[in-house]
Amino acid sequence: MPTAPSTPHQAKYAWSAIARALPAKRPAEERSCDFAEIYGSYDEAAVRAQASRCIQCPNPLCMQGCPLSNRIPEWLALAAQGLFLEAAAVSRSTSNLPEICSRVCPQEKLCEGACILNTRTQPVAIGAIERFINDYAFAHGGLEATTAPANGFRVAVVGSGPGGMACADELIQRGYDVTVFESQLIPGGLLVNGIPAFKLDKDIVARRIDLLAKRGVKFELGVKIGWDVSCAHLQRNFDAIFLGVGAQKPKALDIPGAEFAGVVEALPFLIQKNVISPLVDLPPVDVKGKRVAVLGGGDTAMDCLRTALRSGASDVVCLYRRDLANMPGSRKEYANALEEGARFEFLVNPVSLVANANGAVTEVRCVRMELGAADASGRRSPRPVPGSEFTVPADIVLVAYGFDPVPFPPGSDLAQIATDRWGALKVDENQMTSVPGVFSGGDASRGASLVVHAVKDARKAALGIDRYLHQERRPAE
Ligand code: SF4
Repeated sequence: MPTAPSTPHQAKYAWSAIARALPAKRPAEERSCDFAEIYGSYDEAAVRAQASRCIQCPNPLCMQGCPLSNRIPEWLALAAQGLFLEAAAVSRSTSNLPEICSRVCPQEKLCEGACILNTRTQPVAIGAIERFINDYAFAHGGLEATTAPANGFRVAVVGSGPGGMACADELIQRGYDVTVFESQLIPGGLLVNGIPAFKLDKDIVARRIDLLAKRGVKFELGVKIGWDVSCAHLQRNFDAIFLGVGAQKPKALDIPGAEFAGVVEALPFLIQKNVISPLVDLPPVDVKGKRVAVLGGGDTAMDCLRTALRSGASDVVCLYRRDLANMPGSRKEYANALEEGARFEFLVNPVSLVANANGAVTEVRCVRMELGAADASGRRSPRPVPGSEFTVPADIVLVAYGFDPVPFPPGSDLAQIATDRWGALKVDENQMTSVPGVFSGGDASRGASLVVHAVKDARKAALGIDRYLHQERRPAE
């Protein structure tokens, strides 16, 4: 690996002399037998060399591509000089979970996709460098558990996923007394329940939760707000509320046979295979030696494919109705799934399921698709090709068609909050819902989206809470 340039002149041309390189991946045949993270780490020389590929352009497109407007060129310049703690400090100034976003962001669609070097060569490895500097900061005591002077206000954060964690972090740093309510017994929400450990190790999430706790954030686990505890109870005891409850209601599989045995929703399957403690009420799904068909083309579908392979499935195929270019899932995860042995059938739509005499699914009946004109979103709509029906054998069908927010129960006082037609909580420009003092962000208010979007919303909501309480309220007695 070439070493980092030592002069600005050298740095200006480093991108042409140093090829983009990601940290080494474990071989596919090894990693597809376990749930450990698949990427190794750079050494210090390698990360300096990779960071030096940034040309420090005056109008950094990478910052525009990052939903958090991360100050990427600044921390790349510091990393290129070996100033890793300083680089991580700059990175943390705009992101509450940089060590997590760097692992799970689809960088090719965000910061790296916008990098100016794409016009000539390959982009700077922004995600891998962000991961290195922040892991370095954790390992070298660069993150202090400092607490700000108390300001007298109490805020309830509902949900301990990325939005809840980021909002709690922002608020505790401003002197708020923050309590996070989590319905499960393990904090972390989607980051531990939904995202497999081969992409994001559970210890990385636990490390961040520990830091929040050391900073003074309180966690109440196993409490279901809206079900066990009312909104009114929170309003009596807290000055503001942030609802970061995510979106876990699966979009339905609406074809004949959806009720057959062996047809399983993606999220309970992922939780069952990835989390040690039983968090879901689902009979064990045994895929060992079985043929698995995954329906959908998003990141959840990629997670299902790779989890099924790690759980011993004999054949794993993804059935997706558009082509690769229009598939929403991350290209990085698609490539990893391919390497690990998943198969992909593009432009294919399931139309019905076939079962045996015991009511267990045996086949997916499909039709081939072609892409027609672009719809309002700019994506080309798929339409069936007449006479193209065929079948795909499958003992297990995993449904990964995406998620909507879970509605609060009708009797709950949280059900009064205005929602859109998909059940997402409506919020204003400060992330405040239709109920004064109740804020939201992430999947709960925008529908299923990226971790980095949840962090962005949560930061905005924390600012909104700060403004709301300091302009309109006095601390509760
Ligand atoms: Fe890129 Fe995501 Fe990090 Fe932003 S948060 S710099 S998009 S990896």
